[in-house]
Amino acid sequence: QFISFEGPDGAGKTTVLKEMVAYFEKEISGELVVTREPGGNPISEAIRKLILDPQNTMMDRRTEALLYAAARRQHLVEKVIPALQRNAVVFCDRYVDSSVAYQGAGREIGTDDVYKMNLFATEGILPNLTIYLDVPSEVGLKRIMNHRKNEINRLDLEKLDFHKRVREAYLALARQYPDRIKVINANQEEKVVQHDVRILLEEQLH
Ligand code: C5P
Ligand code: MG
Repeated sequence: QFISFEGPDGAGKTTVLKEMVAYFEKEISGELVVTREPGGNPISEAIRKLILDPQNTMMDRRTEALLYAAARRQHLVEKVIPALQRNAVVFCDRYVDSSVAYQGAGREIGTDDVYKMNLFATEGILPNLTIYLDVPSEVGLKRIMNHRKNEINRLDLEKLDFHKRVREAYLALARQYPDRIKVINANQEEKVVQHDVRILLEEQLH
């Protein structure tokens, strides 16, 4: 079972995932593999370093999308596929849908093109279930900025537009692939979100 976790920034993905790992580690009888791209393999880590290096100001958005897809493929081949072959349950923090949302819509390359390019990279290997944590962009941004207690200011306006495009793309994906992608309202109390996610996972794993 291959399960991915998705969401815009500030959705609470990291927190929920941590709770679910703690719970399902005890709950499931077989092996649980928890991973995230680039997933600690040397090739993907080197690619990730290229993407994140602030010195690479010339990085073109398609170059960036191709590099994400390349890192994704290597992680898939080295980590996810072997785990699935051992019959492990795999929890993956972000996968193809992140690229569709962030590179396709956020960076405006085009969601269809980015999806197709990722299907090439993954040979069409998609999760059995994708849990998408949905949160309004303003709420998500406020959660991230909470530590500096800022209201959204003018400098963050572009950020807000970017985040709105990311969220809209996720919601469009969920409408397009309703069997694979399940939407969770993450604009609720943490305990409620955790409960909703747990129910989905229990349905999938039992
Ligand atoms: O998963 P996490 O919330 O830590 O993601 C960190 C950031 O990586 C995201 O906010 C996003 O800006 C960036 N990202 C991206 N494209 C991807 C995956 C992640 O831009 N395909
Ligand atoms: Mg996070």
